[in-house]
Amino acid sequence: MAKKHTGRCACGAITFEFDSDPGFVAVCHCLDCKKASGGEAATFFGVPEHDFRVTAGAPKAFHYTAQSGKGLDRNFCPDCGARLYTTNLETFPGMVFVAIGSLDHPQGIKPGVEMFTRRRLDWAKPLDLPQFENMPG
Ligand SMILES: [Zn+2]
Ligand SMILES: [Zn+2]
Repeated sequence: MAKKHTGRCACGAITFEFDSDPGFVAVCHCLDCKKASGGEAATFFGVPEHDFRVTAGAPKAFHYTAQSGKGLDRNFCPDCGARLYTTNLETFPGMVFVAIGSLDHPQGIKPGVEMFTRRRLDWAKPLDLPQFENMPG
């Protein structure tokens, strides 16, 4: 039986699933989220690694070192290029950060914070959420 939440890339070659309801959901305006997503911001959330399972396909991982000096792996579909999730975060061991747009049913999953707001573009209006100029905490 499939887990509670399922997701896939844009072409459908890669699918994944997990049971945990997303906890920390963030809208991030940092430069890396802009570059990697191609948009003004990225929205993602954390899921425990042990609950996360790729059910079809083979994502490609790109290792990236953030401005903080901490590394992470961005996982994407090598066929369609869709960004899916991030693993091996030195700052959050044991967690997978899933891009909300890759979910089959993202409706109902709402962000709790906006971060790296100092990088927000002028036209983007703040959401009615706690605001953090950089990382929270
Ligand atoms: Zn794909
Ligand atoms: Zn970011």
